[in-house]
Amino acid sequence: MESDILYHLALGSGSHDLQAMFGDVKFVCMGGTPRRMEQFAHFIMKEIGHVLPTGTQLLDISHNSHRYSMFKVGPVISVSHGMGMPSVGILLHEMIKLMYHAKVKDPIFFRLGHTCGGIGIEGGNLVITESAVGTATLQPFLEAPILGKLQRRPALLDKGLAAELKALSTPDDQWQTFVGKTMCTTDFYEGQGRLDGAFCDYTEEDKFAFLRRIHEEGVINMEMESLMFAALCHHAGIRGAVVCVTLLNRMKGDQVKTDKQLLMEWQEYPQRLVARYIRSHLGTDQAEPLAKAPAGIRCLKQLHLTRQASEHFTSSE
Ligand code: URA
Repeated sequence: MESDILYHLALGSGSHDLQAMFGDVKFVCMGGTPRRMEQFAHFIMKEIGHVLPTGTQLLDISHNSHRYSMFKVGPVISVSHGMGMPSVGILLHEMIKLMYHAKVKDPIFFRLGHTCGGIGIEGGNLVITESAVGTATLQPFLEAPILGKLQRRPALLDKGLAAELKALSTPDDQWQTFVGKTMCTTDFYEGQGRLDGAFCDYTEEDKFAFLRRIHEEGVINMEMESLMFAALCHHAGIRGAVVCVTLLNRMKGDQVKTDKQLLMEWQEYPQRLVARYIRSHLGTDQAEPLAKAPAGIRCLKQLHLTRQASEHFTSSE
């Protein structure tokens, strides 16, 4: 194509110099909501000690698409993928093409799952997906209808990457980290065997028989994006990992009743683990995050004095 329009990102290979803009990318981190991914962009900036040029700030690169939100912090992209497989699939097509146009070699893709249902795992713990499986088949394949035919694509994630992430968890963490199969569904309610949807044509016994059966098959959590994420990363030859935090143990209930403040805290856990990986691979790994004061600020105390003096000066002009 002479010019490739990445419609949902508000970018194009004809309109933008994608190599100049994105050629230094090493990590692409995706998560559900624009707000979370903007917050992750600020978090990772501190973690890797990335300094923005004076007088500049992070902006949503894809703002004009009104679809996804994307931020770039040095070698890290933080981008929202919306909810469910169609949404993450569309984003992946365009992110894979973006990496191609930018001539990025061997990027690593992460899905940061800020919510998922644990199967036999309490809320507030991390699950690293070993393989993503479909609801009906329990097999690690995405069945994608393409030109009227079902194409089976292996939904495999990088085992080495999963092992490295697991090894970055420590006994001091507020969470435990588990590695296992993730069931990816096309619905939050009936698709995940909930009893609290608008409809429920099965019994509580049926629900628990289903959850027990999948747990025996090695499924330890449920969410709605991993199958598409794993299948498209694998098809593109991109190393990918999925790290999700559990919001509840589905063996004990369906509704998310956890206090909002605690939920916000839990949602930082996948970000913290992935940040450790990124720091260790950028060689910026230290016990503490690097940036404490804003870029260019030597002493916060002096800064307040300077600002006070400056404000006093202008108001007395
Ligand atoms: N997200 C899901 O898909 N399922 C849950 O139970 C919680 C979050």
